[in-house]
Amino acid sequence: RPGAFTPQPPRPTSRDGVIKTKPRVERNRVLVTGGAGFVGSHLCEYLVNRGDQVICIDNFFTGSKENVAHLIGKPNFEIIRHDVVQPILLEVDQIYHLACPASPIHYKYNPIKTIKTSFMGTMNMLGLARRVRARFLLTSTSEVYGDPLEHPQTEGYWGNVNPIGERSCYDEGKRAAECLTMDYHREHALEVRIVRIFNTYGPRMALDDGRVVSNFVAQALTNQPITVYGDGSQTRSFQYVDDLIKGMVAVMDGEQLGPFNIGNPGEFTMLELAEVVREVVNPKAEIVFRPNTADDPSRRKPDISKMRTAFGWEPRVKLRDGLQRMVADFKARLHVDA
Ligand code: NAD
Ligand code: UDP
Repeated sequence: RPGAFTPQPPRPTSRDGVIKTKPRVERNRVLVTGGAGFVGSHLCEYLVNRGDQVICIDNFFTGSKENVAHLIGKPNFEIIRHDVVQPILLEVDQIYHLACPASPIHYKYNPIKTIKTSFMGTMNMLGLARRVRARFLLTSTSEVYGDPLEHPQTEGYWGNVNPIGERSCYDEGKRAAECLTMDYHREHALEVRIVRIFNTYGPRMALDDGRVVSNFVAQALTNQPITVYGDGSQTRSFQYVDDLIKGMVAVMDGEQLGPFNIGNPGEFTMLELAEVVREVVNPKAEIVFRPNTADDPSRRKPDISKMRTAFGWEPRVKLRDGLQRMVADFKARLHVDA
């Protein structure tokens, strides 16, 4: 009804128009959505170890309590079963928003739920951030660049994404999440951060998530053929999870909004990756070729100049070293001896 709406006075802002978040207290209260997943569990571990008060929320779709079992019982760690598609009210100072299936097998399993999680989950967490005046960080993805026509990809590149394909629920979901994040920043002067994560690997990747590094390592360890999709000439750049966590925390605690690419610029074809895995994990492993999936990006490599300039950040762990570190964890979970 015209006239029914009474305009509210503006919220207090700093000179640059951004709502000042509460000063970082001795014990920072941090919410990690998707904290029981692969990346989330490493992030929770890092934050708990540095003394933050960490709340992890997760619906355990692809994550598990085992991933954070070593944190349960610590006085500064809590875990709540919750689906981010529903709102939640918590008193926190920072929100790392990771909740979303990330591997193609998982996000294609229920694509409507995937895009719903990306859009509504992000909206709910932005709403929470606004209400409690927390700083919000979105974990976006290199998938926003689609099958890129610019190589390597800088943050200024707008992408080449199929809006109606099998990967769209994830790619377009994350693009919409970025859009929402920026609109909350512009409309509500919320302090936000966006990181675009490139392919990441390491311990605690789900054994069955179908991503290339976990597939290849598990196959090599169990003497199954390493399955290269297509002709294996497509490229990806793989970063070890510890490098990602350091980059994400630097962005959250820093003063720049982003978006920031976080990835390792070392670029490998899938066939080269298979050969490295064979060399590091099992020289006897056979390599076989299988049909590729639809809309598979042909190449991907981050330009990380922005992270280097802003934080002096760059990845430290080389692929062969990272694979070695992953093998011990996979051996234990696959019950492979020696
Ligand atoms: P993951 O599947 O291991 O973790 C995702 C976590 O979110 C899981 O614990 C899952 O149970 C939880 N989750 C999913 N839907 C949820 C919902 N509706 N409510 C609450 N929890 C929910 O994947 P990951 O690799 O750890 O990815 C974490 C984040 O990083 C994702 O947002 C992903 O898009 C992003 N990312 C990861 C990579 C990568 O290579 N690992 C690359 C780019 C972006
Ligand atoms: N891939 C492969 N063998 C596998 C799994 C994946 O060759 O067993 C290929 C896949 O076709 C893609 C690349 O590896 O070209 C990366 O796939 P992943 O699912 O890990 O991540 P994303 O496609 O999201 O980058």
